[in-house]
Amino acid sequence: MFPRPRRTYCNLELIALLSNVSGVPVKCTVHISGVLTTLQANIDLEKPFYEELEKHINSLNSKYHEKFVITKQTCDDISKALLLERGKKSDLSFIFWARNNFVLVRTAGIETVSCAKSKKSVCVYEAFFTVISECHIAVSHGGRDKTFGEIQTHYSWVPRVAVDLFLKRCIACQIRKPVKQQHVVSKPIVSLGVMTRLQIDLIDMRTRPDVIRCNEVA
Ligand SMILES: [Zn+2]
Repeated sequence: MFPRPRRTYCNLELIALLSNVSGVPVKCTVHISGVLTTLQANIDLEKPFYEELEKHINSLNSKYHEKFVITKQTCDDISKALLLERGKKSDLSFIFWARNNFVLVRTAGIETVSCAKSKKSVCVYEAFFTVISECHIAVSHGGRDKTFGEIQTHYSWVPRVAVDLFLKRCIACQIRKPVKQQHVVSKPIVSLGVMTRLQIDLIDMRTRPDVIRCNEVA
């Protein structure tokens, strides 16, 4: 069996890996061109994650923009709509949508807006990064399906695309990916006649010292 090829990490990659695993900024001292330098990385993965997600939402049809994810503000409005007495004047289409898709579930004395079908708490847009990150770590950096499954056991309204975007940025997962190795393509040797070509298989014996044992000589 061949040993697994080792990955060489650059300093920043290592800091990023440690920062991602521990969730805190990492500081370390390294030699760069003979100079002792202190590097500190406070890698902000959250900002680019939300930027990309925002871009995705904007690329959707305008009628899905508002209800693709539930923001904290929308969640509060849903809660009010569910508590609103019937017959009171308000945005009827919003109330209709809220009452069709959400319910208030009381847990430990606190009412939370939850999905009407799954009865799982709605995960608001602002909490996506933290929730996905926690669930992804809970499944030991498992793939998309495992992470998504873990999220669904606790929350609702987290789109699959948000998990994809998070996983794309997870440094621990990116570093762990095996490096693709190129396969050697065999090339046939064409010989035009007998003894016109000579082939020698070389075996590297340098690691085996020339030792003659006494009993073998005898
Ligand atoms: Zn990961």
